[in-house]
Amino acid sequence: HAVYAIDRWGMDLVSVLPNGDLGLKNPLSPDAPVVSLPSIIHGLQERGIHTPLLLRVSSFLEQGIRSINDSFAAAITRVGYKGQYRGVFPIKVNQQAQVIDRIVEFGRPYSYGLEAGSKPELVIALAHTLASDALIVCNGVKDAEFIRLAILSRKLGFNTVIVLESPKELETVLEVVAELGQEPLLGVRVKLTNQISGNWAESSGDRSTFGMPTDQLVAVVDRLRETGLLHCLKLQHSHLGSQIPDVNDVRRAVGEACRYFIELTREGVPLTHLDLGGGLGVDYTGEKTASENSINYSVAEYCANVVETVTYALDEAGLDHPTLVTESGRAVVATSSMLVFNVLEATLYDAHSAPEPDASDHHLVTDLAAITEYLSQDRLQECLNDATFYRNELRALFRRGYIDLRQMARGERIYLHLMSKIKHLAPEVGTAPEIDAHLEKLADIYHCNFSLFQSLPDVWAIDQLHPVVPLQRLNEVPDRRAVLSDITCDSDGKIDSFILADGVSGSLPVHTLDDSQPYYIGAFFVGAYQETLGDLHNLFGDTNIATIELRDDASFDLLHEQEGDTIAEVLSYVEYDPRDCVAAFRKLIDQAVSERRLDARDRKTLMAAYRDSINGYTYYE
Ligand code: PLP
Repeated sequence: HAVYAIDRWGMDLVSVLPNGDLGLKNPLSPDAPVVSLPSIIHGLQERGIHTPLLLRVSSFLEQGIRSINDSFAAAITRVGYKGQYRGVFPIKVNQQAQVIDRIVEFGRPYSYGLEAGSKPELVIALAHTLASDALIVCNGVKDAEFIRLAILSRKLGFNTVIVLESPKELETVLEVVAELGQEPLLGVRVKLTNQISGNWAESSGDRSTFGMPTDQLVAVVDRLRETGLLHCLKLQHSHLGSQIPDVNDVRRAVGEACRYFIELTREGVPLTHLDLGGGLGVDYTGEKTASENSINYSVAEYCANVVETVTYALDEAGLDHPTLVTESGRAVVATSSMLVFNVLEATLYDAHSAPEPDASDHHLVTDLAAITEYLSQDRLQECLNDATFYRNELRALFRRGYIDLRQMARGERIYLHLMSKIKHLAPEVGTAPEIDAHLEKLADIYHCNFSLFQSLPDVWAIDQLHPVVPLQRLNEVPDRRAVLSDITCDSDGKIDSFILADGVSGSLPVHTLDDSQPYYIGAFFVGAYQETLGDLHNLFGDTNIATIELRDDASFDLLHEQEGDTIAEVLSYVEYDPRDCVAAFRKLIDQAVSERRLDARDRKTLMAAYRDSINGYTYYE
């Protein structure tokens, strides 16, 4: 199993058990036994919860919250920082009620708050009981209703900060303040000029869509002073970016944010909070390098860099240390859930045996078969060239009608048999690139029960890499390589980039399927952004979701279960009334019965099949 690099990316969450099962470790209880993931899946199946399944592990989430809060606390103590850390979780990263409820619960001892980027998210935030000194930070475009809600929520004890995104937004705030006669708690979003590297480079720097450049900032300060509300401006927000690969980018951007903080303070703005937004990354590949799917730092190092940079900058300016706020989402929730799916069947691009020679074979079929006679490790390339040539000639003759279907099938089978021999002969390392590329194209297609578009949208949209591994038989040498295709009818619906020990590969090492037992595969670290970004391509809906807790006796507790969408539910999302569908179908049936095209028994079976489908899971059952 070393090929999957589980020890590298699995952190303190995942490992392999001696029986070959992938196991989950409780990060909060390091001495507790590792719990077999296949046994969790079987346990859930017994309770009627089937794959595809999104599995959330409660202690993984708690660990995410503890990790950032404890790391900031440790850095603050070590550096002698005089302020506090008051993080907020950005709701957009995972809005699901079960997740937010737990984040609020686990975060309460840390006075952890919430970030709302829209009115619906503020509505969610205000439905929770936060610690009395926790923040609700409101970002994004805000209308008068949003602002009214934010201002009045302070009467309920919420510390709701309206982060001004533009001078125009300030005018709306001023109107609502005049209407309510209530003072707001204000923040201001500053656009940093520093551009961060990585996949989300465009969310930072001059061309980022949010935040005010300096001239607008000055205009906002002047307007607040003029209207007598400058004392309400308490927080400076400078979003650093997302999935920042290089920790030195963090230092540079925080340094720039501090310059604004110092200058605004010198302007007379009574700032007390410095909010550095998101950006703390996740090491999806475990490589610890500054690249798109990896980062070259730990959570502790990120926190230390932030605290040190702010300390040095403000000490030098002779200013008090502000309360530090970050809006890390990905690093808090990504590792807390995984997608588990079963393989339905495999399409193979090789064959274990070739047909016996036949006197009536076309000479091209005989030529193809003859390649085995000179096939050897030092003539691999030549054999591959010959096989490709003869097979292409055969296909050309078939297209022109000179070869029949059976001859063609014999030729293709001989070709596939040759390919499996070439695969076995090819050395593990040092193969010519052309042979490598050819063998890659011979990877099996494992057809899997999930929708990439619904469950792993970033894999499709931005080539995000998630660790993907078989969940069982990890003590057996994987004897095949496969690309994973989903069950949408879209050829984009596949995973063909995998994190392996020797780098990213176009195919995943897998085991020959055994029809007597299911073969499960897991995609890890899918807790951030994936759930809400997912869509209904081919009308595959939400998967089943289970939230579990790992127990010290190597079993688990089911904390919450959420059934996946039924077909009726997804139909209603696309404007159908499922009852109308049933009625329309019944009408067609009755017409067929009256015209004697359908008897009473078939009528009953057909109606039941339609009803069962409409009330059932959208995935393969
Ligand atoms: N805050 C703001 C304003 C954001 O735009 C984002 C995401 O880009 C975040 C927080 C969360 O960022 P991350 O998930 O990288 O921590």
